[in-house]
Amino acid sequence: MNQISLDIATALKSVKAHVLKHEAQYRKTSENVQLLAVSKKKPVGDILQAVAAGQRAFGENYVDEAVEKILQINDTSLSWHFIGAIQSRKTALIAEHFQWAHGVDRLKVAKRLSEQRPEHLPPLNICLQINVDNEASKAGISINELPELAAHCSSLKGLKLRGLMAIPTPHDAMSEQRIAFAQLRLALESLQTTYPELDTLSMGMSADMEAAIAEGSTMVRIGTAIFGARER
Ligand SMILES: *Cc1c(COP(=O)(O)O)cnc(C)c1O
Repeated sequence: MNQISLDIATALKSVKAHVLKHEAQYRKTSENVQLLAVSKKKPVGDILQAVAAGQRAFGENYVDEAVEKILQINDTSLSWHFIGAIQSRKTALIAEHFQWAHGVDRLKVAKRLSEQRPEHLPPLNICLQINVDNEASKAGISINELPELAAHCSSLKGLKLRGLMAIPTPHDAMSEQRIAFAQLRLALESLQTTYPELDTLSMGMSADMEAAIAEGSTMVRIGTAIFGARER
């Protein structure tokens, strides 16, 4: 085994151990948090090291780069999650090559994904992205807009509404990180009164995973802690 594969396998193991530890610490039941390995800007070789170490779910942010890697790896046991901002002109590629899209934040994009999802594939799982901090520069809808977008999206064929996703403003203190994640959890709980089948809170990255798990994350999206720092 070369140095790199050892590093990725070791890092993956360590991240998984942290996830379990935080679940045990904060949650009534454990093993509910799925680990998404965020492989954006990382080469196919790195992804294959993670696959060899047992990882199956991967997150990517850039459509063209991702599709190239998905086709090259060509492994149907993997699930690919598009977690970047969704541009209208890229929806067909997302609908054709991914199992999940986390950043749905407008009806136009949802409609295109619905129309472009190939009929031979199961529905595309989607999360609605919430701009929890109401930052003007950020993608995502406000919590007020959620009921309407959820109602539209849940009726579109080819899509399966699974839950919510957010990328909160970074904070150093865990107590501050938890505030936005708690808001996202409450938003999901409120939506579940109408859509009890919703089961996903996509929240938590390398730097705020513990806070996200403490507030009920069901899917953490971890890049740096598994694959190392990315080149900008
Ligand atoms: C890059 C990215 C991640 C992973 O971030 P790390 O800090 O490297 O763990 C998670 N979610 C989204 C939406 C991202 O763009």
